[in-house]
Amino acid sequence: LQQSNAQNDRLVELGRIAASIAHEIRNPLTSIRGLVQLLAPNLTSSAKLSYIDIIISEINRVNSIITEFLKTAKPAPPLKEAIPVTDLFAELELLCHSESLLQGIELVILPVDPSLMIYADRLQMKQVLLNMLHNAMEAISDLPNSRTGMIQFEAERFGRYVQIRIEDNGVGMDEQTRTHLFSPFFTTKNSGTGLGLSTCYHIVELHGGTIDVESTPGHGTVFRIYLPTVDKKPELS
Ligand code: ADP
Ligand code: MG
Repeated sequence: LQQSNAQNDRLVELGRIAASIAHEIRNPLTSIRGLVQLLAPNLTSSAKLSYIDIIISEINRVNSIITEFLKTAKPAPPLKEAIPVTDLFAELELLCHSESLLQGIELVILPVDPSLMIYADRLQMKQVLLNMLHNAMEAISDLPNSRTGMIQFEAERFGRYVQIRIEDNGVGMDEQTRTHLFSPFFTTKNSGTGLGLSTCYHIVELHGGTIDVESTPGHGTVFRIYLPTVDKKPELS
């Protein structure tokens, strides 16, 4: 528990640093954008004008990356409500059915007892489940072609908690990865941000829950998310 508190402190600190870096980048970007726009009407050649268009749209792109990044690095305080887990799973199915078909992945979302509820922020929970799903898909896309990718979601009561279990038969991970996977910016991917799981961890902690992981290299991975159930009085937060 102490370790996870230290990890959480570091995460909060990193989130702060990230937010201030983002603002520092944004200020010069805004003035560059303004100056480029001022230059544009004085240019005659159409080639130069089209360069300006590209410069402006690239600046806009960097700006929206920063916006997205800030949303990820600093999850807002959760707006909690009672949510049937079966609702969450239904939304997940709707969002991901076609994507998994396209990738030739078998996405199995097991039926959940309709009375099983969590007290949680709907959007943040969706973000957590989608992050998990995308990681699983990426773990599967690295597989040799001989194996069909499978991702399974299930949920059941676990004492005062709901356990959501996400299993994939992807590449799995080694010990080194398993110890670092919740750290911000830790990634083993060429184009990964390493922010997905640290954000998931942070969100689940804000909900009074936790995440654990089991993995066998070459065989697959199981994530378990524990979230407080609703049946007792929700704690004030
Ligand atoms: P990113 O996906 O950008 O790399 P994440 O924080 O989502 O960042 O994940 C961190 C790392 O954890 C990944 O780079 C990968 O090595 C490992 N990982 C996460 N989920 C899985 C999974 N389902 N199977 C295997 N490895 C995983
Ligand atoms: Mg990820």
